[in-house]
Amino acid sequence: MGFLDEVGKVVSDASQKTIQKTRVMSETVKINSAIVEEEKKIQKMYCQIGTMYVEKYGNNCEEIFLGLVSSILETEEKIKEYQGQLQRIKGVRRCKKCGAEVPLEIAFCNMCGTEMSVGQSNDIDKKQVD
Ligand SMILES: [Zn+2]
Repeated sequence: MGFLDEVGKVVSDASQKTIQKTRVMSETVKINSAIVEEEKKIQKMYCQIGTMYVEKYGNNCEEIFLGLVSSILETEEKIKEYQGQLQRIKGVRRCKKCGAEVPLEIAFCNMCGTEMSVGQSNDIDKKQVD
């Protein structure tokens, strides 16, 4: 084998190794992202299990879950409070049937036509007079 053939073989071996390394790296990235996707699915299912459990048992849950369940229920109440504040700021109330936001002065939901009851005013201080 001549010198140039020898050099050619070394270069070829080096580029083969580079190609192999690149292939391994791109396979690794692909597999890692597949693992992340599967882990996300598991997280979502755990979340669903938790939601179903809290909906079914609430504060009547097993003692071991009581702390977490209470925190969830308190946090949900806080969120409701904040939503009520937002609705008061925006001057709307929520339709009991479809959940749409309806301006206080409107008597019927513009989404589903449900009559907005007078008492349903998100605890707004001023009472509406008929
Ligand atoms: Zn509605």
